[in-house]
Amino acid sequence: MAGVVVRRMAILVQACFSYGRFAGFALACGLGLAACRSVLPDAAAPVSALPVRFLITFDDGPSGAARNNSTALILDTLAHNRWQDGIKAIFFVQTRHRTGGGTGTGRQLMQRMHRDGHLLALHTASVRGHVNHTQMPLAELDRNLGDGIEDIRRLSGAAARFIRPPFWHFNPATLARYEMHGLSMLLDDISIRDGKVWGITSNPNARKRIRADLHKVARRIRDGELPAVSGYFPLVMTMHDTNSTTARNLESYLGMLVEEARHVGLLVHPQPFITPGEELIRVATLRANRSLLARLETARPTVAVE
Ligand SMILES: [Zn+2]
Repeated sequence: MAGVVVRRMAILVQACFSYGRFAGFALACGLGLAACRSVLPDAAAPVSALPVRFLITFDDGPSGAARNNSTALILDTLAHNRWQDGIKAIFFVQTRHRTGGGTGTGRQLMQRMHRDGHLLALHTASVRGHVNHTQMPLAELDRNLGDGIEDIRRLSGAAARFIRPPFWHFNPATLARYEMHGLSMLLDDISIRDGKVWGITSNPNARKRIRADLHKVARRIRDGELPAVSGYFPLVMTMHDTNSTTARNLESYLGMLVEEARHVGLLVHPQPFITPGEELIRVATLRANRSLLARLETARPTVAVE
């Protein structure tokens, strides 16, 4: 197609100079540019006829803070916000963290997550806190996973199905252990990198990070690498409900997702955020594809993610 355009422009320019008139040259250029516009990709053309929807996930929580609890604020915002009321999320929790899930406040919040229709999934259940599973003796990892599954069953009455490893570090041995315990690993497509790094919680680059990840998503959709379900492409986004900045800005971040998806040429579903809980499970099961996600993991630095 590009060859046709070049030939067409060459003929027009040649015609212009052969007649030696400026007006003819201008006309030729105008026609040539019009020809270009008619065959080059339209910047406003959608990446796909199918829209995207966002599966919102949170890591590290719940917060055990008695006042100004970030997890509680996030649950309030998911329930009521200007973009879509009643958003359901997956919370990858630390069930026994001494300042979070291991506290009375933390346990109440995990029960509220389930009551509000969100899905409880496992980050880690170690009393040692946010510990890298790949550096844990396998016997300890087995106890950790068993404890976490039991904690989630006791808190929600439901079986834990999904896991996201601390620091996103995994290897064939830990993956085999997850599978043995009936857990599927789910990573993500979009992240605002809001895991606390050296105590800093502010995130002035959230929009830039969302846009960069959505550009990658658009490319993967064009290349046929992302699976569609029920007439849409589910996109998994990660945030941290222990981050007070994220809690205060969640409504803005939800809006950034919608706005930036449109900016990169993606159609957005009329209900941009996936709901209800059964749909979360279906979509998370679809996306918990280890071979694809393992490839993504190698392309992403893990040091800034908690
Ligand atoms: Zn984490």
